[in-house]
Order: sequence, then C-alpha cells, then structure tokens
Amino acid sequence: MLSFELTDEHQMLERTVAEWAAREVAPRIRDLDRAHHFDRAIVPQMAELGLLGISVPTQYGGAGMDYISLGLASEALEYVDTSLRVILSVHVGLNCLTLLAWGTEAQKQRYLVPQAQGRALATYGLTEPSAGSDARGIQTVAVKKGERYYLTGEKTWISLADVADNFLVFAWTDLDKKRQRDISGMSAFIVERGFSGFSSGTLESKWGILAGNTGFFRMQAVEVPEENRVGREGEGFQIAMFALDQGRYTVAAGAAGLIRACRDASVSYARERRTFGVEIGAHQLVKEMIARMESDYQASRLLWLRAGWLKNVGRRNTRETGLAKWFATCASERAAGDAVQIHGANGYSDDYPVGRYYRNCKGAVIYEGTREIHTLMQADYLLGYRTDRPARCELPAVESTP
Ligand SMILES: Cc1cc2nc3c(=O)[nH]c(=O)nc-3n(C[C@H](O)[C@H](O)[C@H](O)COP(=O)(O)OP(=O)(O)OC[C@H]3O[C@@H](n4cnc5c(N)ncnc54)[C@H](O)[C@@H]3O)c2cc1C
Repeated sequence: MLSFELTDEHQMLERTVAEWAAREVAPRIRDLDRAHHFDRAIVPQMAELGLLGISVPTQYGGAGMDYISLGLASEALEYVDTSLRVILSVHVGLNCLTLLAWGTEAQKQRYLVPQAQGRALATYGLTEPSAGSDARGIQTVAVKKGERYYLTGEKTWISLADVADNFLVFAWTDLDKKRQRDISGMSAFIVERGFSGFSSGTLESKWGILAGNTGFFRMQAVEVPEENRVGREGEGFQIAMFALDQGRYTVAAGAAGLIRACRDASVSYARERRTFGVEIGAHQLVKEMIARMESDYQASRLLWLRAGWLKNVGRRNTRETGLAKWFATCASERAAGDAVQIHGANGYSDDYPVGRYYRNCKGAVIYEGTREIHTLMQADYLLGYRTDRPARCELPAVESTP
C-alpha cells in the first residue's frame, strides 16, 4: 500500500538534524558567511551525528540508514545553510555511495570506512577550467606505467577541494579515445591529498555558499597505484554519471529545504511588517508569493521522496532524480527571489537570512547538471532520444523497504 507516512526513525532523524543545525550553526551562520569561513569544527559534529556515513551500511562504518534518511538530512541541513548540505552531497552522495557501489572490498576498507566514520572527508572532481557540462571535454590524463598511473591535470569549482582528504577523480586513460571524445576511454581514480604532485587552493571570488569551501586542485604527474582505480578501465564516465544520480538527489532534497526556509521567513515577516495599515500578508500579491512557495515546496519534496523510494527498492532512478533536482532547484530560485521581494529593502541586506538564501540557491541551478542540461535530458527521455542502459554496478537496495 502506498504510504506518505515517515517512520519513527525518519522523524527522529529529521528532528535531530534540525535541532542540531538550529542550535550549533544557525546562530553563527551569518558571521561565517560574511567572513567566507568554512568552519572545520562542524565536520566532526556531523560525523558524531552519523551524517557522514548516513546511508552507508554499518559493516562499512556507516549509520546504515536508508536513502530517504539521506534526503531528510539534506533537506534539514539546507534549511539552515546550503554549505552544510553541500558536505553531504559531495562526501556521501558523490563519493561514499559511489565507492559503495563500484569500489573493491579493499577500497571500501581503506577509504569508505574512514570516510563513513567521518575520519576522512571526501569529494568529487570532474569539472575542469575548460569543461563543465561537456564532461567529455576534460583534459586530465592518467598515463599507465607498470602497476601505477600518473595523473596530470587541473580540476576547478570543486566543493571542499581545499579541505577534503580523498578525491574521486576522472581522467582519460586512452589518449586515442580522448581525441575522438569516446567516453569509453575515461577512468575513475581515488587520489589522496597526500600523494606527491597534488596541490589545491580555494576560489576566493565566489559570491554564494560562502560558509562552504569551493576550490581547485592540480595534479602534476600524481602517482596513483592501480588498486586505486575505481571500476574497470574505461568505466569512468559511467561512474561519474552514477555518482551524479546520488549527488543530484541530495541537491533536490536540499533545495526543498531552502524553499521551506524561504517560506517560513516570508510568513513570519509578512505577519510583522505593516503597510497601508495592515500586515503585508493581507495583500493579495504577497499571499500569492507565499502560496507559490508552499506549492513549490510540497512538489519538490514529493519528487525527491519518490526518487529516494526508488533508490530504497533498488530501481534505476536517473530520470526521476534528474527531474527532482531540476524542478526543486529552479523552484528554489523562484522562492528565494520572492522571499527577498517580500522583505523589501530589508531582504537586500544581511540583516535577514533571505539574501543568503538568494545567493546560495543559484549554485544548485548550475552544478550537478545545469538547468539547461536537465531540460534537455527530460525532453530527450520523452522524445525517445535517451534511455538508461543497465550499469554493471548499482546502488544496493535497502533490504527492509516494503
Ligand atoms: C558552487 C559550485 C560547486 C561545484 N562543485 C563541484 C564539485 O564538487 N565537483 C565538480 O566536478 N564540479 C563542481 N561544480 C562545477 C559544476 O558542476 C559546473 O559548473 C557545471 O557542470 C556547469 O559547467 P560550467 O560551469 O563549465 O558551465 P558550461 O558547461 O560552460 O555552461 C555555460 C552555460 O551554457 C549552457 N550550456 C552548456 N551546454 C549546453 C547545451 N548543450 N545546451 C544548452 N545550454 C548549454 C549551460 O547550461 C550554462 O548556462 C561546482 C560548481 C559550483 C558553482
């Protein structure tokens, strides 16, 4: 039977994450954001809550919760600040869950276990200075000599680039295929910060998600042992896309949280501020903006919940996850714009949080597939130009799902 009821465990998780973020982060977020400061002390607290391995099975150091829990945590974190949800997106969504599905047992023991326990922070490096949407355009190469690869290239716009320990990196292993832009020439690797030839930096001119770290890293003939290749040679592109199915899911749920934050801030301001002798909430045009936030929030939540349910039961969900991400992030931009509008000039300052929501929401309309790329994907599914072929490795289903 179809049920919209969250389990007691889900509700407890949602409450715990919301209470923690409200207590530990919300009072400081304005200052962290203004100072462009990534507070590393937040990471062990998230680890303590089990968030850094939330949907990773307990045998690999995780909390063993289902994928709906990952969505609930993403939503609750972004309700307070996008930078918190980004940690979950790259560390859990893009990295840990990819190692869970595609990693060897040795890779899981060496990397997934400490990551899920929060002893190491991980991220995902696909984008390069000359290639974002066009991932085939990456220039990073991995040249094999004996049992080692030598990686050379630069990744940019990478979340947590300057603070993470482990990196899931994509590079061409077949240079002929690179020239032909044939994706079967790409492979995936685990690179550690400590490997010789690796360096990183922070992008200082970013204007949103300022309490988060976004940066670049350079690899100058970084020596990577063969056992750090994830999947087979030539499976890198598939692995990169697999990871996005999980990352996009957290982005969708997070965007729903941002819409909810816009809605709540707007409702409260609309009850306080008076013009023309009445609360501004009494004006029909203000009501319209608030009502749209509610419909956008509810629709976004249903879409990410459906994607989470598909993950729980072990069904392919690239299409549904993409739709959830596309809809929720575009809706969050609408909600944040209207939230600023409802706050008038006060919205145009850091005295209220809505200006931060407005700056933060835009990133998600760009990363993990831009609005335009998702528009094309959804149209292509409908037109029959795109179908999802079965992958060699899939995200494990959650056993107790009805
Ligand atoms: C805050 C932030 C964090 C990020 N974190 C990460 C990360 O952790 N790891 C990572 O690998 N990357 C990350 N990225 C990079 C992100 O994934 C890319 O920015 C994104 O894929 C878009 O690529 P691009 O910026 O090169 O834009 P481009 O691909 O150059 O696109 C420019 C514009 O052209 C449009 N466009 C491009 N191709 C088409 C087309 N075929 N049809 C129609 N329109 C098109 C795009 O939609 C966009 O509007 C992050 C980006 C940001 C902003």
